Amino acid sequence: MVQIIGKDETQVHEVTCRNCASRLRYTRSEVQSFRHTDYGGGTDTIYYIACPGCGKQVQNLKAH
Ligand SMILES: [Zn+2]
Repeated sequence: MVQIIGKDETQVHEVTCRNCASRLRYTRSEVQSFRHTDYGGGTDTIYYIACPGCGKQVQNLKAH
Protein backbone atom coordinates (compact mmCIF):
# COMPACT_ATOMS: atom_id res chain seq x y z
CA MET A 1 0.00 0.00 0.00
CA VAL A 2 1.38 3.36 -1.01
CA GLN A 3 1.41 5.86 1.80
CA ILE A 4 1.76 9.61 1.66
CA ILE A 5 4.28 10.75 4.23
CA GLY A 6 4.20 14.45 3.40
CA LYS A 7 4.41 16.98 0.62
CA ASP A 8 7.64 18.06 -0.96
CA GLU A 9 7.57 21.79 -0.28
CA THR A 10 9.32 22.57 -3.54
CA GLN A 11 6.26 21.20 -5.35
CA VAL A 12 3.72 23.10 -3.27
CA HIS A 13 2.85 26.62 -4.39
CA GLU A 14 1.05 29.37 -2.54
CA VAL A 15 -1.32 31.97 -3.88
CA THR A 16 -3.79 34.44 -2.41
CA CYS A 17 -7.38 34.45 -3.59
CA ARG A 18 -8.12 38.03 -4.56
CA ASN A 19 -11.81 37.52 -3.91
CA CYS A 20 -11.82 36.25 -0.32
CA ALA A 21 -8.17 36.76 0.67
CA SER A 22 -7.66 33.11 1.51
CA ARG A 23 -4.11 31.88 1.38
CA LEU A 24 -4.11 28.73 -0.71
CA ARG A 25 -1.62 25.97 -1.13
CA TYR A 26 -1.82 23.83 -4.22
CA THR A 27 0.12 21.36 -6.20
CA ARG A 28 0.33 20.82 -9.89
CA SER A 29 -2.40 18.18 -9.81
CA GLU A 30 -4.93 20.80 -8.71
CA VAL A 31 -4.19 23.23 -11.51
CA GLN A 32 -6.70 23.35 -14.34
CA SER A 33 -6.46 25.30 -17.55
CA PHE A 34 -8.51 26.63 -20.40
CA ARG A 35 -7.74 28.32 -23.67
CA HIS A 36 -8.52 32.01 -23.86
CA THR A 37 -8.82 33.86 -27.15
CA ASP A 38 -8.22 37.59 -26.99
CA TYR A 39 -9.62 40.28 -29.26
CA GLY A 40 -6.59 40.17 -31.50
CA GLY A 41 -7.19 36.50 -32.19
CA GLY A 42 -4.27 35.28 -30.14
CA THR A 43 -4.77 32.41 -27.79
CA ASP A 44 -3.46 32.03 -24.29
CA THR A 45 -3.66 29.17 -21.89
CA ILE A 46 -5.02 30.33 -18.55
CA TYR A 47 -4.05 28.30 -15.52
CA TYR A 48 -6.28 28.41 -12.48
CA ILE A 49 -7.43 26.68 -9.35
CA ALA A 50 -10.85 26.85 -7.75
CA CYS A 51 -10.73 28.55 -4.36
CA PRO A 52 -12.26 26.23 -1.75
CA GLY A 53 -13.27 29.24 0.33
CA CYS A 54 -15.43 31.12 -2.16
CA GLY A 55 -15.51 28.92 -5.24
CA LYS A 56 -14.05 31.57 -7.53
CA GLN A 57 -11.24 30.89 -9.94
CA VAL A 58 -7.80 32.07 -8.94
CA GLN A 59 -6.05 32.67 -12.23
CA ASN A 60 -2.66 33.59 -13.55
CA LEU A 61 -0.82 30.87 -11.76
CA LYS A 62 2.69 30.01 -12.70
CA ALA A 63 2.62 27.84 -15.77
CA HIS A 64 4.31 24.57 -14.96
ZN1 LIG B 1 -11.57 32.69 -2.46
